Amino acid sequence: MTDYAIEIEALEKTYAATRRAPAKVALKGVDLRIPKGSIYGLLGPNGAGKSTLINILAGLVVKTGGKVRIWGFDQDVNPRQSRASIGVMPQELNLDPFFTPAGALEVQAGLYGVPKSQRRTHEILEMVGLEDKAEAYARNLSGGMRRRLLLAKALVHNPQVLVLDEPTAGVDIELRQMLWENVRALNARGVTIILTTHYLEEAEEMCDEIAIIDEGRVIAQDRTETLVARMDAKTLVIQPEAPVTTPPPVPEGVTVDLRADGALAFGYRRAQTSADVILGLVHEAGIRIRDVATEEADLEDVFVSLTSKRDTAA
Ligand code: ADP
Ligand code: MG
Repeated sequence: MTDYAIEIEALEKTYAATRRAPAKVALKGVDLRIPKGSIYGLLGPNGAGKSTLINILAGLVVKTGGKVRIWGFDQDVNPRQSRASIGVMPQELNLDPFFTPAGALEVQAGLYGVPKSQRRTHEILEMVGLEDKAEAYARNLSGGMRRRLLLAKALVHNPQVLVLDEPTAGVDIELRQMLWENVRALNARGVTIILTTHYLEEAEEMCDEIAIIDEGRVIAQDRTETLVARMDAKTLVIQPEAPVTTPPPVPEGVTVDLRADGALAFGYRRAQTSADVILGLVHEAGIRIRDVATEEADLEDVFVSLTSKRDTAA
């Protein structure tokens, strides 16, 4: 038995040319291994290929090349078992307007062959906060309620892996909190979670591991804290004893900011400069130090640094 919920090897997708658009290469050889039990983030800008990847996992898009195993089942060899192992909350709000939430879940359960006695329609509706809308028509549901229903539909067959494609794009705070509570509760019960987002803080806060995808390639993949630590951008924040009006001169590769609270914030890269050098500069400028703190890079810095590195290399 494998330790991975999902194993992806050399995955490629080219959307065929149409009369209106030329062929589009969306995935250029993606390798990913997503550990069982994790909350895994796929992070990347719009058009990176996140939904393409998710939709291949869901069986909605046919891959051009490569291998996909879900819960150990090869998608090409055991399509039924691999499909049964995964539930997907899609990015688009595509719901049949003539079904009620309860009806939609019953139909979905039927599609997955869940016997009537094992259906949990009301339990799931309660979980996503739709129990009082169980018999309302989908066309009368708000956008937020439709999203809840999409999450509910992804859960009817009790999948080991739950995938959420941009679950919080454009949703209000209340729904976002409900989604994260559900995600954490499901994960605590052993469900492996994969979510895509282009919100960096969200990935940093929610995910154990993150893969950063850009232009159809994985440009970084690691545990969240490792990814952040790997970035060598650092900020050294100095509170001067007396107010400073002009920041001291800094060498190339170091930046300095005079913050509104009077602090001097020095940006530098650990590989190039050390905190010692910065403190030396400050002493030389005759500034007495009341307090010193460092700030780590967040994922935004990691992302900017990785994508710009790749651009300059290309
Ligand atoms: P993301 O979800 O990261 O925003 P997508 O997977 O939706 O990215 O898109 C990746 C690339 O593939 C984009 O350039 C997009 O325009 C293209 N693409 C997505 N879906 C289709 C499709 N059905 N036909 C043609 N091109 C597509
Ligand atoms: Mg998308």
